[in-house]
Amino acid sequence: MRRKIIAANWKMNKNINESIDFANKLAKNLSELNDRDVIICPPFVNLQAIKSIIEKTPIKIGAQNIHFEKNGAFTGEISADMLKSIACDYVIVGHSERRTLFGEDDRMINLKIKTVFENGMIPIFCIGETLEERESGILLAVVERQLKVGLAGISGSFIEKIVIAYEPVWAIGTGKVASNEQAQEMHRFIRDTIVKMYNNEFANSIRIQYGGSVKPDNVSGLMAESDIDGALVGGASLDPESFTRIVLYDR
Ligand code: PEP
Repeated sequence: MRRKIIAANWKMNKNINESIDFANKLAKNLSELNDRDVIICPPFVNLQAIKSIIEKTPIKIGAQNIHFEKNGAFTGEISADMLKSIACDYVIVGHSERRTLFGEDDRMINLKIKTVFENGMIPIFCIGETLEERESGILLAVVERQLKVGLAGISGSFIEKIVIAYEPVWAIGTGKVASNEQAQEMHRFIRDTIVKMYNNEFANSIRIQYGGSVKPDNVSGLMAESDIDGALVGGASLDPESFTRIVLYDR
């Protein structure tokens, strides 16, 4: 039985006071939770403050990005060592906004995933097709390529810890959620691809989140699908009560 994993991706939202306020409220709302994983991914500058608030709770922190080089002349970038030194738990890698707005490709994403693993953190590896790719019928080929190139050279001992987030680009921030069936179909395909690339055991233990306009009123249907193991939530994660309702979707 895979444990559900629900993550908040705040993107470029919330200053330090807003972040502290949110973390205090969420820590209170979820203090008793012990049957699922919950992660907050704030902007880099707020990671440490949130970490100190949630330290004694089941909530973990994640970064929204990382650079694959160790250190050096990369103005504006953040290294694995920096994240590790503040006890960051997870790192989102390959979000579609990073791919489309900042030119990240599958090869670069592969280097980032390796860097995250080599530094003892867990990647939340985002994949998903655009509307154009879905409508032209190449959605499975696109997702397969993202998996094969993104995970190239990554060994089984790492792979069983990875979190994959299937985020159809057409559903991110648009209010257009994939139907439960569309999401389940792609999650099954992702698991089948992992079977071919690795084996049944890893494929069955890897958690695959759905992301794309998840809200308190559509989350429970998605979570009921057999291959959907959690959610990566953007817009609806910015309000502590809405995010709490998503995390506690079955209560
Ligand atoms: C995201 O950015 O990862 C996301 C899923 O956003 P939203 O929930 O706003 O669609």
